[in-house]
Amino acid sequence: MANKEFSFKLLKTKGKMRAGTMTTPHGVVQTPIFMPVGTVGSVKALDSADVKNTQAHIILGNTYHLYLRPGMQTMQEMGGLHAFMQWDKPILTDSGGFQVLSLGDAIAHKQDGSSQKSGPSVKISDDGVEFRSHLDGSKHTFTPEKSIQIQREIGSDIMMAFDEALPDSKPHEYAVDSLAKTNRWATACYEYWEKHDRRSVYGTYQSLFGIIQGGLFEDLRREAVEHIVSLDFDGVALGGETVGYDLDGTRRVMEWIEPLMPKEKPRYAMGMGMNPIDLVDGVKMGFDMFDCVAPARLARNGSLYVGSLEIENGEPVFQSEFKNGRMSIGAAAYTTDSGLIQEGCDCETCKAGYTRGYLRHLYKTKELSYFRLATQHNLRFMIRLTEQLRSYILEQ
Ligand SMILES: [Zn+2]
Repeated sequence: MANKEFSFKLLKTKGKMRAGTMTTPHGVVQTPIFMPVGTVGSVKALDSADVKNTQAHIILGNTYHLYLRPGMQTMQEMGGLHAFMQWDKPILTDSGGFQVLSLGDAIAHKQDGSSQKSGPSVKISDDGVEFRSHLDGSKHTFTPEKSIQIQREIGSDIMMAFDEALPDSKPHEYAVDSLAKTNRWATACYEYWEKHDRRSVYGTYQSLFGIIQGGLFEDLRREAVEHIVSLDFDGVALGGETVGYDLDGTRRVMEWIEPLMPKEKPRYAMGMGMNPIDLVDGVKMGFDMFDCVAPARLARNGSLYVGSLEIENGEPVFQSEFKNGRMSIGAAAYTTDSGLIQEGCDCETCKAGYTRGYLRHLYKTKELSYFRLATQHNLRFMIRLTEQLRSYILEQ
């Protein structure tokens, strides 16, 4: 698949593992890749120069959050998200669907004290989703067209189609209706994208990825792939409320849909990448792009990644002395530890020589510098892991 401004080239495969190159108007992304999440136009605790130092190829922006703050009028007056945050590399935006449902639900829990999953503040209709802002309670509606329009105003390189991120807890009957809606919305997004010549309001090319929903139902996931593949999206994504968090479920779904996905398009596993092992598994299942808020959040909460990619019987395997590959920097055992978080790590924190003992001290005293130092390590760790997987695939 090729076009002047967006292309994906599959360079090499080994089993289901893939190494490729994705070209966007703001530069090249080498896959497999981990993408840091910059929720409101900022990767928490870092500035754009720090993010560049993690050697991130591409970051995420959240449509829901940016739409509420700073709002699209400010965004457009500031020239779009790249200019606004001084980030000249690729940006991917989600559709807002996931946040509308999850944050809307959270409000419902808070206001009526119930633990009901679907609250009164979110109304899903055939046309879209009506929700209340989690900031001030104001009422808004997202439709497929509105979601793409907001993403055009953000000016991302890759947009996502508007969808309902189906919770795994929903019964088959609900999932059937939900998927029908998501598939109709995918078509509506596609048509709106074509209508605007696949361009942002700033004139740059934007690619659009379709999202495969269907919960944990094999028949629905298969139906979803068929529909998404029938439209000529630039890439294909795996979505769902628990994708990346229920890993057994995620793996099962990946096994069903992988053989049905086009080889020549990038494949994005949304929300996957909480632990290093997840990235290794996702790559082994044939996916190219990953994102997750967890590495940065875990860093802020004192969990730092340690471990390495080893080759065992010709297979890449993640190994660590710590459960889930994470050490708890607050533990008393590190009080006088003069070692680095990880020997040989090339993140800015480890390169500068900051010891476990010092980081523990910053964490315990809640020093602001801790958040930056910890986040730099965890993000670089995940990006380096995808680089190592890529090298392994290319060298085979
Ligand atoms: Zn490090």
